[in-house]
Amino acid sequence: MPVIRDAEIEQLLRDYAQPILRVAGLAKQNVRVVVLGDRSFNAFVMDGRHIFVNAGTLFDAKTPNEVIGVFAHETGHLAGGHLQRLREQLASAQTASIIALLAGIGAAVAGARSGAAGDIGAAAIMAPQSAIMRSMLSYVRTQEDQADHAGVKFLNATSQSPKGMVDLFKRLSNEVLFNSRFIDPYMQTHPMPADRVAALETLARASPYWDRKDAPELVLRHELMRAKLSGFLERPDTIARRYPASDHSLPARYARAISTYLHSDLRQALAQIDGLIQAQPNNPYFYELKGQALLEGGHASEAVAPLRQAVQLSHNNPLMEILLAQALNAANNPKLAEEAVALLRTAIVREPEAPQAYSQLAVAYGRKGDLANADLASAQAAFARGDLKTARQLATRAKTRLPIGSPGWVQADDIVNVKPNANAKVQ
Ligand SMILES: [Zn+2]
Repeated sequence: MPVIRDAEIEQLLRDYAQPILRVAGLAKQNVRVVVLGDRSFNAFVMDGRHIFVNAGTLFDAKTPNEVIGVFAHETGHLAGGHLQRLREQLASAQTASIIALLAGIGAAVAGARSGAAGDIGAAAIMAPQSAIMRSMLSYVRTQEDQADHAGVKFLNATSQSPKGMVDLFKRLSNEVLFNSRFIDPYMQTHPMPADRVAALETLARASPYWDRKDAPELVLRHELMRAKLSGFLERPDTIARRYPASDHSLPARYARAISTYLHSDLRQALAQIDGLIQAQPNNPYFYELKGQALLEGGHASEAVAPLRQAVQLSHNNPLMEILLAQALNAANNPKLAEEAVALLRTAIVREPEAPQAYSQLAVAYGRKGDLANADLASAQAAFARGDLKTARQLATRAKTRLPIGSPGWVQADDIVNVKPNANAKVQ
């Protein structure tokens, strides 16, 4: 599943999630929101450290409050320590894994009843599967009710309205009613019978914050996020319909500028982006877009100035630093390569798993003629991509070029000695 990395979207979603996580007592767990490049509506948690949300959810959510409501519900699952994998497997049933899972649960239930481990195979065969399925579904249902309750509690504790959560869930359950062939993945992972939505609405309407509206500044950022997703992910004709030329709002101009830079003329796109910068001279993401358009249009040297602005205005966001370093590298000037190395080294401290940061670091060292460190950075890039074989080869070569026992040599040595399973991506 492709992950969308974008400084603007990630910052907005952090701002949506942080107050909720704080009142849920999860502030110290460093929970990250991860955006998946999938058009369908879905959000879920699989471990204690991430909330996954599809781009489609951000697209479909009409207000910040709706996304915040989804995060409140998911945080309810996190705070409740619910068994996410089990819920998902149950929800997508009819697979071999669910049968095996149910058989295993049947065995455990039978074993517990007889007071002994017993013969698992025999117990599984004897277990009445439909009864187990019913009891597991009621277990899932209990978790959903708990997450709804916790979600409303978190929203109340942060003086935010639970209305968005109710509106969104209502919309989802109606979609399923009217189109039985279309089952949204969110409905599979969070079964939403009508009585659940009704119970949630009763609870939510009792909130003193039911009528509270999102701050206008947040609404604008939300609309800019949706416009950006549209600009990058949708076809030009779809964008033109969604944001017709008669719409002079900032989000509409943003979506059109992105579409112009991706699909038509660079000079025209730059004029549109300059218009955005004029409207919001302190918005780092407009400078980022300008730099990106110039860089990808083959004008690396011209991209440097707007990207410097983007880094400064975003308070050194590491994704911005990586993009600026890419422009500095592409400008092909040894002095700028020196600056790129410094930027990337600080970005990597905060983004230690970004392959792009290491591959740009390798380019920067290469420009400086430092082949030992270029090899090490290339090895780290391959490692971050999960290509352990290439990582080992490059790290082995880096070791022959680095002074034995130096910090770089030790890092290379670590990669050479990594066991294959230690490289498995932890979610
Ligand atoms: Zn749920």
